Amino acid sequence: MNIKANVSLHALNTLALPGQAEFFSRVHNNDELAEALAYAQAHKLKVTVLGGGSNVILASNISGLVIQVATRGIERCEQGDHSKTLHWTAAAGENWHQFVQHTLAEKSYGLENLSLIPGLVGAAPIQNIGAYGLEISDRFVSLQALEISTGKTVRFSKSDCQFGYRESVFKQAAAGQFVVTSVTLALSEQPNVDISYPALAAALSTTSDIRQSSVPEGALSLGSAQISPQQVSEAVCRIREQKLPDPTLQPNAGSFFKNPVISKDRWQQLRGKYPELPGYPQLDGGVKLPAAWLIDQAGWKGAAGQGCSVHREHALVLVNNGGCSGRQLLQLAEDIIVDIERRFGILLAIEPQVLGLRGSL
Ligand SMILES: Cc1cc2nc3c(=O)[nH]c(=O)nc-3n(C[C@H](O)[C@H](O)[C@H](O)COP(=O)(O)OP(=O)(O)OC[C@H]3O[C@@H](n4cnc5c(N)ncnc54)[C@H](O)[C@@H]3O)c2cc1C
Repeated sequence: MNIKANVSLHALNTLALPGQAEFFSRVHNNDELAEALAYAQAHKLKVTVLGGGSNVILASNISGLVIQVATRGIERCEQGDHSKTLHWTAAAGENWHQFVQHTLAEKSYGLENLSLIPGLVGAAPIQNIGAYGLEISDRFVSLQALEISTGKTVRFSKSDCQFGYRESVFKQAAAGQFVVTSVTLALSEQPNVDISYPALAAALSTTSDIRQSSVPEGALSLGSAQISPQQVSEAVCRIREQKLPDPTLQPNAGSFFKNPVISKDRWQQLRGKYPELPGYPQLDGGVKLPAAWLIDQAGWKGAAGQGCSVHREHALVLVNNGGCSGRQLLQLAEDIIVDIERRFGILLAIEPQVLGLRGSL
């Protein structure tokens, strides 16, 4: 175990925000993790867990011990309950996209829609990552975690995780209490692609490289062409590369705001005033609104804060233009939240996790 003091986290978050960890340890196996947790307990240090840093906002320096999980290992486990189901377990420090690609190469299907989401496996259940009509909860079996205060191993089933839209128990009742060490997902030997998400279907219907010959049995038919999970993954990667700003060129954390869910009555009221307001009915009877539409409508696209701005083409993405602090970025977010509430009566919530002190904000 290697614990360093006063370590810069600037290169370890995709928003490239400044900030130091009072103490920092990168752990490569679960023994090192247990040692780091014991050290934190012995020295009464608050523990903050960091993965790939693609969904965090450093509001200040981080006091206590920041642990970055760099454990590796991907394993195909026992057959699932159904004969065509395969269980895969990945260590928390595995890169998410590489894990998705590994399972596809091994002819285990079901994660293709979640291709190219930045970050590590251990963080994926924290906010129940989702894209193109799929969430990790749709494939989730269980995870293993170490309890920070005791170092004990705890297994969480799917129901224990209390998954919701970009939510889990780890952002609520169990926030800050566990380090995820591995995640187990149920995939399928049988390709069964889901291209119901309109942008994905559109991208696939215009794609010129759909190859009949490479299609496994059971792949979905779209018009006259067959679509394989690999082709879905490639299409998702293409859309994401075209649509989303690359954090290495324009530091960002993906979607900065969650899409709000409001009651059907409230949505109908708003539709009276804004007939073009989109709305997606939810199973619980609510209606999900695209936060991007609200922000765009309010004229925030391209608007600048101090050292940061709303991306010119993506109303949901806030970008660090260089030298911006976490507080300055949060100030821009706060200005947007206040304005959207004033105009539409809807309170937007920030999607990334704020680390450090938010101070007066
Ligand atoms: C360009 C871009 C596009 C994105 N697109 C999407 C998208 O389509 N869908 C989506 O859902 N998200 C998206 N995100 C957000 C992000 O990729 C995911 O939330 C990802 O799961 C974060 O992983 P990470 O390893 O970077 O986590 P981090 O940012 O390091 O951490 C995120 C949170 O998880 C906690 N955490 C991390 N690892 C562990 C662990 N092992 N145990 C316990 N807690 C842990 C941290 O404490 C923090 O609270 C995008 C981000 C970017 C920059």
